[in-house]
Amino acid sequence: MKKTIRFLALLLAMILSFTACGSSSEESQPPEPPAEPVTSDTLYVQKVENLPEDFIMGMDASCVPALEASGVKYYDYDGSEKDVYEILSANGINYIRVRIWNDPFDGDGKGYGGGNCDIANAIAIGKRATQYGMKLLVNFHYSDFWADPGKQMTPKAWKNMAIDEKEAALYDYTKDCLQQLVEAGVDVGMVQVGNETNGALCGIKSSELGGWERITRLMQAGSKAVREVCPHALVAIHFANPENTDSYVSYGKNLDYYQVDYDVFASSYYPFWHGTLENLSQVLSDIATTYHKKVMVAETSYAFTAQDTDFSGNTIGEGGGIVKNYPFSQQGQANLVRDVIDTVVNDTVNGIGVFYWEGTWISVGTESYEKNSALWEQYGSGWASSYASGYDPDDAGKYYGGCAVDNQAFFDARGKVLESLKVFSLVREGNVVENRPDAIEDANVVLDLKGEITLPETVNAIMLDNSREAIDVEWQDVDEEAMKSGGVAKYTVYGTAGGMEAVCYVSMVNYNFLQNGSFEEGELGWVATQITDFDELKVEDKVTDSLTGNFHYHFWGAAANCVEFTLEQEVKELKSGLYDYAISIMGGDGGETEIYAYVKLNGQIVSTAATRITVYNEWHTATIEGIDYTEGDSIVVGIYVKCAGPNAWGKIDDASLSSAA
Ligand code: CA
Repeated sequence: MKKTIRFLALLLAMILSFTACGSSSEESQPPEPPAEPVTSDTLYVQKVENLPEDFIMGMDASCVPALEASGVKYYDYDGSEKDVYEILSANGINYIRVRIWNDPFDGDGKGYGGGNCDIANAIAIGKRATQYGMKLLVNFHYSDFWADPGKQMTPKAWKNMAIDEKEAALYDYTKDCLQQLVEAGVDVGMVQVGNETNGALCGIKSSELGGWERITRLMQAGSKAVREVCPHALVAIHFANPENTDSYVSYGKNLDYYQVDYDVFASSYYPFWHGTLENLSQVLSDIATTYHKKVMVAETSYAFTAQDTDFSGNTIGEGGGIVKNYPFSQQGQANLVRDVIDTVVNDTVNGIGVFYWEGTWISVGTESYEKNSALWEQYGSGWASSYASGYDPDDAGKYYGGCAVDNQAFFDARGKVLESLKVFSLVREGNVVENRPDAIEDANVVLDLKGEITLPETVNAIMLDNSREAIDVEWQDVDEEAMKSGGVAKYTVYGTAGGMEAVCYVSMVNYNFLQNGSFEEGELGWVATQITDFDELKVEDKVTDSLTGNFHYHFWGAAANCVEFTLEQEVKELKSGLYDYAISIMGGDGGETEIYAYVKLNGQIVSTAATRITVYNEWHTATIEGIDYTEGDSIVVGIYVKCAGPNAWGKIDDASLSSAA
């Protein structure tokens, strides 16, 4: 009896191995020649300790066929033209990720763009990935075009379906696609059921009545199809914005409560949007520990240059040379990747891998916008074509164009592979080269209009190993008198340091007597007091929500009438005189509000200035002028906020106390 069971199990395993995923037939293939070891004379890579052999080094490369149709070719380090998937594999990439849209075409068969990523595109890519020994992560968006935290639009064909029908359609569609991939011999290792499904999927929002119940039903339908067709593949659920820790806690809870059958909780991590690596490892570890799941980074990326090469603006780059400690250089890009891998391996519970997003999406041409635009339209090689306007009128319809990440690829504008790609291989043993300055950190000085103009004598060189070293700098001459008489203004001064260009941003200001007025140093100097109990009141690290710098003070309360607090600072060592105080706020959903800036002298409020919150990115500045201060008195400046609306939220930034003009 026992023997029979074992025999049947063996037979079943044999059948499965010929029909299911991971079944690329190995019998007829010639033995692979031993891979050339990856070496570099110029790229510094600090070893990632404890790196498992099978750790996923992934690359999303969904646009390649559309780019190739547009004339793009890829070249290896020796200048020879090669299959880009072979180049990726040779440099340590062991997994390819590909997105799938149900039907990214209009009624005339014109592609929406973004690679026109349908199932046929995924099969073509999957076959090439498999050919070079890499597994495939199949990323279903369950939409006809981009799905992300901003939009989760239903496929055209499913638009009027009730939830039961949609559930069945999603199951059938997933099953059909995976069967096609398996039949094509593709080595499917993982399947993502939805993309950045932050509380929405396939047209359903979690804020609707029963929203989570329906979203998770769809996820479960996708998961069921994966289990049936690809029993060896991992099922991943994917979210974005790990900096919103409370949201991640709620995603984990909902997946558990509604019993979604999944293996991997995956997160995007874009360093310029998504908080710190410390925070990322903490939120993922919490999920891994609480629900016994694997976790990974499904998308990350960084710029190797600030330059755009295809006449279509980029997500990051122009207008800034550095974000989050890494310079926009190949070394900076490699260091970011190395640090994300290190975080997932060494600081995160059950971390299994890191995928880089669209590291092969480069410019289709460097000659003119017109030439490129024609290619984007014809082959779908830009982020969106005009043909997407009907399906996505508000975003693609208005802003369709080229590639927004060509400066974050691992290939230059002509398709030549960059040295930085080697990081995926070199992290295994490390690659120590002689340390030297790689870039110069921008200097920032704030000078009082009433004081001296002194520029820094040194600037920070960012070394290959991402450490900082102060080196001498030579600034071009500045017109000091003009700067002093020019009032509050900003100037850019250029110089030279270590043979590289140095930049100093000079802000001429009425000196700010407040400490940490822009919250760049966290809570330092500030006291926040919750008068009522509500959900969030804290310093937040988010450049897009800050008036200046990366940080601001954030508040949010879910219930009606719950938000009431003060945020204030006691000013020390102030000389007698007249002063002006200002503080800025933006926010929304406040309902009826009472918000004012105030000044307290010796514990008594002596002056207030009312302000308000309206909508995102509309900042309001409250100003109190002519504060008459006498040395020895205690002086406190602050802001009082009270909101009646449910979900009231806001951001406070840039407080200043300066000499009255
Ligand atoms: Ca671009």
